[in-house]
Amino acid sequence: MKSRSEPGAWLIDIEGVLVRDKRYTPVEGSVAWLQAIVDSGRPWCLVSNNSTDRPDELVRKLTAAGFPVTRENLVGALGLATQWLLGRGHRRLMWLGHPRLEDHWRERGFELVEEGSCEAVVLGANPELTVARLDAALAALWEHGADLVSLHRNHFFLDADSRRRLGPGAWAAALEPAVASGRVAVMGKPEEPIYREALKRVGVEPSEALFISDDPVADLVTAKRLGMTTVFTLSGKYDDHRILGSLDQDEWPDIIVATPADTMQAGNTAAEEADT
Ligand SMILES: [Mg+2]
Repeated sequence: MKSRSEPGAWLIDIEGVLVRDKRYTPVEGSVAWLQAIVDSGRPWCLVSNNSTDRPDELVRKLTAAGFPVTRENLVGALGLATQWLLGRGHRRLMWLGHPRLEDHWRERGFELVEEGSCEAVVLGANPELTVARLDAALAALWEHGADLVSLHRNHFFLDADSRRRLGPGAWAAALEPAVASGRVAVMGKPEEPIYREALKRVGVEPSEALFISDDPVADLVTAKRLGMTTVFTLSGKYDDHRILGSLDQDEWPDIIVATPADTMQAGNTAAEEADT
C-alpha cells in the first residue's frame, strides 16, 4: 500500500464524496475537510461526471452547501464533450440528457433536434428519458450515421430521492450496436481523458495525486491504472466494500474510509506510524 499522507494533489469526485446525492446535502464533515485541503495550499480539483447541471449551476449549488468551490476547481465531462463536439465541427445534436442543459448547448452554438438527422446523439443522466426518444436516437444513428457520445458510462445514478435510476451507460449499451463506428465516445470517468485533464489542472504527475470517490469501479480503476493513490469512501453509492468482489485484487483501492474526513485521520496515522 502506498503512503497515505500528504498527497501532492487531490482529485475529488463530487456525488458520494462532497455531497450525498442530487439534493446536495453535504456528507458529514466534508465541508470542513475540503476547507482543510484549501488551507493546506495543495492543488486540488473536482472531477465530475455530472450531466444534469450547468457547470456554473453546479458550482452555485456546492457553494450554497458551504463548499469553497469556484469554476476553476471543476473538471467535468460536459466541458470535455463540448470541446470534443466543437473540435469535430458537429453542430446538430440530439441531446437525450437532462432538459436543464439545453441552454448550455444552444449558448455554444449547437442546434438541438428532436428527431431526424443530426451529427451526434449525446447522452447524459435524464430520469425523464422515454423509449420514444431512444427510438429517435436509434434512427439518427442507424439511418443518418450520427456519432454517439456519452458524458459518462455509469449504469445508474442516485436521484434527488436517493433512488437508483438507470444512467447513460445503460442507454449507451442499448444504442452502441447501431453506431457505424461500432463504439460510443465516452467523455467522463472511467475513460482516461478526464483524468489527464484533471492532472493537467493540478499540475502533478499521477504518482503524486490522490483520487477519492464513492465508486471504486467506474472511477478508481482508471485512476489506479494511471498510477494514482486511490481512496474509496463508503459515503455514497456503496455503504460497504462488497462491490470490490467484482474487481481483480490489483484493481482494489489503496485506502477505504467511511467518509472523506477520515482521509485526514488516515494520513495522520500513517505519518505517526512512520515517525515511530
Ligand atoms: Mg460519485
